[in-house]
Amino acid sequence: MPHKEHFLNRQQLSESDSFILFYSSQILVRDEGILWSLEQLRDHLDDSADLILLQRDADTSVIAVSLQQNISVILQAEVKSLRSLLSDTDQEKFLLAGRASQLVDWYKSHKFCGTCGAQTVHHGNERTLVCKSCSLHFFPRISPCVIMLVTKGDKMLLAQSSRYKSNFYSCLAGFIEIGETPEQTVHREVEEEVNLYVKNVRYISSQSWPFPSQLMLGFLAEYDGGEIVPDLSEIADARWFDIDSLPNVPSEKISVAGKLIRTFIDEVKNK
Ligand SMILES: [Zn+2]
Repeated sequence: MPHKEHFLNRQQLSESDSFILFYSSQILVRDEGILWSLEQLRDHLDDSADLILLQRDADTSVIAVSLQQNISVILQAEVKSLRSLLSDTDQEKFLLAGRASQLVDWYKSHKFCGTCGAQTVHHGNERTLVCKSCSLHFFPRISPCVIMLVTKGDKMLLAQSSRYKSNFYSCLAGFIEIGETPEQTVHREVEEEVNLYVKNVRYISSQSWPFPSQLMLGFLAEYDGGEIVPDLSEIADARWFDIDSLPNVPSEKISVAGKLIRTFIDEVKNK
C-alpha cells in the first residue's frame, strides 16, 4: 500500500530510520557512505529542519535533511558535491542521493508563491506545496531533455562541449521546448548544434540526471544529410568516429550517453 506522507515530524522518527544530510546543497559523506542513523544525529538536528521522506519500507524510512549548521566536523564527515558521487560504482546510492538533493532544493526554492508572494504550505497527502491565498499548487519540477547518438553506417557522431572543458566526447543533447515532442527536439537540436538532418529517431532509454532536476530521454538517430558545422557556442568539436577507435566517452554504468554508445556498438557487431 503506497504511503501518503511526504514530511515527517520528530515524533514519527524511529531508531531504524536512515538520513541523508545536506549542507549548503552538498552532501555529507563518511567512508563513502551517505546514510546516517538517528543515534548519530539526535543531538545535532535543529528543530526547524524539514524531514523530507524519500522512501519507506515496513518499519524503516529514508529521510533527507537540509542542515542549517555544518555538523560535518562533529560527524567526521566530508561535505561533497553530488557530482563527486558519479564516479562511485553504486548506482542505487547515486540515484537515492540525486532524488534527495532535488527534493531538498525544490522545497528550499518554493517557500513562497510565485504569483502573490505568500508563504506556501505542505499539502496533506501529496508531494505538493500550496498557496492558500490564490489556491495555486506547486509540484516538484523536472526538466525533460533529449540526448541522441547520431549514426551513419557503422560510424557515430560524437561531440566535445564548448561549455565544460574536458577531454570527453559524448552525444548531442538539449532541452525539450514547450510544445515539442522529444522526437521533434532531436531533429531541431541536431540541426542547431551540428547542421545535420536525421531520420528514424528511435527511443532507447532514459535517466534521471540531477544536475539539476533533468530527465534525459535517450535516442538513436540516423544521419539523413548535411555537412557537420558545429555551433561553436555549444560544441567545440564534432566528428564521426568508428566504433573501433573511440575517444574518451562516458561510461555506460553512469550515463545514458554511454548506454546509447554501447547499444549502437552491439547493434553494429550483431549485424
Ligand atoms: Zn499565491
